[in-house]
Amino acid sequence: HGDFSQKIDYVFKIVLIGDSAVGKSQLLARFSRNEFSLDSKATIGVEFQTKTMVIDHKNVKAQIWDTAGQERYRAVTSAYYRGAVGAMLVYDITKRQSFDHIARWLEELRGHADNNIVIMLIGNKSDLDSQRDVSTEDAKEFAEREGLFFMETSALEATNVEPAFLTILTEIYRTVS
Ligand code: GDP
Ligand code: MG
Repeated sequence: HGDFSQKIDYVFKIVLIGDSAVGKSQLLARFSRNEFSLDSKATIGVEFQTKTMVIDHKNVKAQIWDTAGQERYRAVTSAYYRGAVGAMLVYDITKRQSFDHIARWLEELRGHADNNIVIMLIGNKSDLDSQRDVSTEDAKEFAEREGLFFMETSALEATNVEPAFLTILTEIYRTVS
């Protein structure tokens, strides 16, 4: 037996944005609960999930916000962005349009969020490489030009999901500590 009660040193709000159906909710389900569902309706209504990780011997609680389907109606409000210190801009590597829309999401994010918010570009569904419509090079180049971190992930296969969240949390930690 031991005392597992944790002292939380930091709480970081991270918002997930990007077109509908790119896999935002499943990335969050994979990261926070190690779950995945092929039924996208399963997560509608979820506001945020939390997960605590250890960074530099500190307990860092990630509070990750999901749009709960509002992105379909372009109804993501400023309340959603308020207080966010990190943002994950997600596209689907098999849907060129979802990548082309990233510039718009970035503009919206920069209009609403804090100036020093840490932004990470995420190309999700890397398991569907045979249907790839966005090259890794194109995305890398865009990310470099815009000063974003970048990673390709698969919520389905659990590839790079934890590393992506760990990267953004570590960068946020660096900016605040
Ligand atoms: P959201 O609208 O951005 O929240 O997207 P969802 O998380 O609801 O996912 C939309 C659909 O894509 C669902 O059918 C998911 O099961 C599927 N999906 C999500 N992530 C992946 C992935 O990494 N690989 C594959 N093959 N499908 C995924
Ligand atoms: Mg969703």
